[in-house]
Formats: sequence, structure tokens, C-alpha cells
Amino acid sequence: MSNCLFCRIVAGEIPAKLAYQDESVIAFYDINPQAPLHVLIIPRKHIATINDLQPADAELVGKLYLAAQKIAGDAGYADEGYRVVMNCGEDAGQSVFHIHLHLLAGRHLSWPPG
Ligand code: AMP
Ligand code: ZN
Repeated sequence: MSNCLFCRIVAGEIPAKLAYQDESVIAFYDINPQAPLHVLIIPRKHIATINDLQPADAELVGKLYLAAQKIAGDAGYADEGYRVVMNCGEDAGQSVFHIHLHLLAGRHLSWPPG
């Protein structure tokens, strides 16, 4: 997926400030942060949207959440709280078609979202 922005970040072709990485997941700071902490957590494997997930990806999706838990905890937000969200498709505002969790923390986040 050489034309996928996030695959290119995984490959090191586009620089990103990493917050976490392991054998199946990487996380980096959002280029346009919407909160004091805004990290994107992605699988190294290209999956375009939630609609493209397969049953075999279930463990991988769990690893995205465990990475979010670790990054939020390490940054000191475990007690204050944080939001983890994944947009799917146009109406949700997905703009990069390689699944990613947004981890947002460090300010009060309103609900429902706009
Ligand atoms: P979404 O709109 O849910 O698909 O989220 C895509 C996110 O990727 C946005 O929050 C962008 O600010 C972010 N983004 C786009 N390009 C980069 C980049 N090169 N490095 C880090 N974050 C990026
Ligand atoms: Zn990709």
C-alpha cells in the first residue's frame, strides 16, 4: 500500500513522532492535535476501514486498545480519563483510510461529539 499515508509512516518513508511501537502496532502524535495529548494508534498491517476488519483481526484490534491504555497511563491520564475513538467512513470524518484509534486526553471532551 505504497500510496497509503499511514503505511508510509509505518515504513519510515514519512516522518512521525512515535509515542509507542511493538511488532504489530505503532502510535504517533497527530499532526493537528485536538487535545493536549492526541495520538493515533494504528496496526502495521494495512486495513482501510472498520468495514474491512476480518475475524482474524480481532486480537490486533485489541492490541490497539491496549496500546491506548499504555500511552494514556504513561502520560498520566489513567485517572482523569481520556477518549479513544475510531472514525469509519465519510459521515464520521475518516480522512485517512488505514484504521487508526484517536487517543485524546488533557482537556474536558464534550459529549455527544459534533
Ligand atoms: P481521521 O480524520 O479520523 O481519518 O483522522 C486522520 C488524522 O490523521 C487527522 O487527525 C490528521 O490530523 C492526522 N494526520 C494526517 N496526516 C498526518 C501525519 N503525516 N502525521 C500525523 N498525523 C496525521
Ligand atoms: Zn495503509
